[in-house]
Amino acid sequence: MVRQYLSHLPFAKLRWLKQRIKSYVQFRKAVHSFQEEHFSGICSKKCFTSRTSACCGREGIITFFADVVINVLLSTNGQIDTLLETLEGDTGGFNCVYLNENGCLWLWKPIVCEMFLCVAAKNSVLAKSESLVSKWAGLCRRERRYTWPTRSVLFDELEGFFLNGGFDSPLMYLHKSPGLLRLKARHGSEVRQKSVLRREAGKS
Ligand code: SF4
Ligand code: SF4
Repeated sequence: MVRQYLSHLPFAKLRWLKQRIKSYVQFRKAVHSFQEEHFSGICSKKCFTSRTSACCGREGIITFFADVVINVLLSTNGQIDTLLETLEGDTGGFNCVYLNENGCLWLWKPIVCEMFLCVAAKNSVLAKSESLVSKWAGLCRRERRYTWPTRSVLFDELEGFFLNGGFDSPLMYLHKSPGLLRLKARHGSEVRQKSVLRREAGKS
């Protein structure tokens, strides 16, 4: 549905969406580098070589609608086809359907997956360095700028964009989760988001 809608958007609107997610992609690159530099050792040793990754259990995955939109915007058609085929061919088991022998099939794995660190990994890496603790805390704060709706955030805007286009999805947690809706109401971000969307609609 996301792919189909995006494929029919005018070029200028598509360019606006890609521009809108640019700083988020920078943030994701920063998290990826941090994880690669400090956690790839322990994660390979503890989980991937034994194929028991506690990060990638079937019950653990939470995907936001914006995770899907961002991946469709940045992936090739082939990469999205692979995700869809994998889902359709799912045969069950304990691991997440998207985990294969090379790791996660998503181009940009869902943000909840990206930010998860188990206690063992935290204890082994972060507990040894104040500077790493502070860097990780900085990345967690940055994540909230895109996902935590105490102000107008990207994940909320992307859901709103599709809702305005007449689409709906149970993954639109920023518009459906009671907890997040309460948070938005408390901070008035719904009102701000609508005015951003109105401004954008006026430009196109
Ligand atoms: S964060 Fe923990 S559970 Fe996840 S892959 Fe690394 S060691 Fe394994
Ligand atoms: S989506 Fe990717 S990172 Fe997330 S649980 Fe599944 S395989 Fe792991």
